[in-house]
Amino acid sequence: MREFGYQRVFDVSGAVALLGSDPGARCLGGGTNLVDLMKGGVERPSLLVDVRELPLDRIEARGDGGLRIGATVTNSELAAHPEVRRRYPALAQAVLSGASGQLRNMATVGGNLLQRTRCGYFTDTSKPCNKRDPGSGCPAVGGEHHNHAILGASAHCVAVHPSDMGVALSAFDAVVAYETADGPGEVPLAEFYLPVGETPHRETALPPGALITGIALPPAPVAARSRYRKVRERASYAFAIGSIAAALEVRDGVVHDVRLAFGAVASRPWRAREAERSLIGGPANADAFAAAADAELSAAEPLPHNGYKVTLMRNLVVAVLTELAEEDAR
Ligand SMILES: Cc1cc2nc3c(=O)[nH]c(=O)nc-3n(C[C@H](O)[C@H](O)[C@H](O)COP(=O)(O)OP(=O)(O)OC[C@H]3O[C@@H](n4cnc5c(N)ncnc54)[C@H](O)[C@@H]3O)c2cc1C
Ligand code: SF4
Repeated sequence: MREFGYQRVFDVSGAVALLGSDPGARCLGGGTNLVDLMKGGVERPSLLVDVRELPLDRIEARGDGGLRIGATVTNSELAAHPEVRRRYPALAQAVLSGASGQLRNMATVGGNLLQRTRCGYFTDTSKPCNKRDPGSGCPAVGGEHHNHAILGASAHCVAVHPSDMGVALSAFDAVVAYETADGPGEVPLAEFYLPVGETPHRETALPPGALITGIALPPAPVAARSRYRKVRERASYAFAIGSIAAALEVRDGVVHDVRLAFGAVASRPWRAREAERSLIGGPANADAFAAAADAELSAAEPLPHNGYKVTLMRNLVVAVLTELAEEDAR
């Protein structure tokens, strides 16, 4: 076991001062991902800055219909909050579909966004992996990749982002707020995760030493009729092999507003903007939903053992949008 320092912080300025003073410092949220990776030698921080006592543990319902969610809110608190369930039900469902009750009691919003991929080569330090050890190669491309990416990947890395919560946040245009020693900043979730390209080890647009302070969700009336559907290899306590966050508003048989994001298909939550574009102003029926899925998935580049995800995602789009359209018509 490598030695590392541990410091509990109680205010944001103290946290960013510590994070800025040591390039090897990392925030400790619930520790449900970071500590596992430290045990396996994948993460080797020199200092853990325990953020759980920071005053970032509130969910504020904004008067305009949006929400502000503090970075240390636990996954359990997020899923149980009445305004989350009322305004963004897909977000509550997404969080509840992840991990277990005990883990959700510990895991934080900031940590969930920054959890690392579950690619088996990444967590096995005896194997090469461009994300863990830049330039060492990507054995997943020619090896075990049945749950790897079909969209937006590169020959340098085909890993998927494991967060369920992030998929729903992506559908609803979340913005990530952070703080560094230079002051506050924010970045839309759509730009938060960097393209894979040749640098899969560079995962987010957060500046060095940044503390995530919270997430803002803008008002989205369509989100009140939203759903998260997750497909996994066993009924609970498993990561997605494909998932969807969807919201739909139909007026007089025509799609007035729609949100779609996919999970477990890319290195980031995948906002399905091509599908959304193809649906707006058109009929709300199964043919249109299938055509929208095809428009999005035409960019898919499956590997030899994960082509099933294209069919899976197409079926998910049609099934979930059909359910939402039928409920909207009642
Ligand atoms: C068995 C198991 C099953 C799981 N299943 C699922 C699942 O189905 N779906 C799913 O989405 N997740 C799942 N998870 C993952 C779980 O949701 C994450 O481990 C958890 O959300 C991470 O939150 P944390 O607070 O514990 O993060 P930590 O482990 O404390 O930290 C994770 C990363 O975030 C950084 N970090 C934490 N907080 C901040 C902050 N405020 N600012 C900057 N950086 C920060 C840390 O430095 C670290 O790099 C599972 C985990 C386990 C162990
Ligand atoms: S897919 Fe990415 S994380 Fe997995 S082995 Fe390849 S480079 Fe590493």
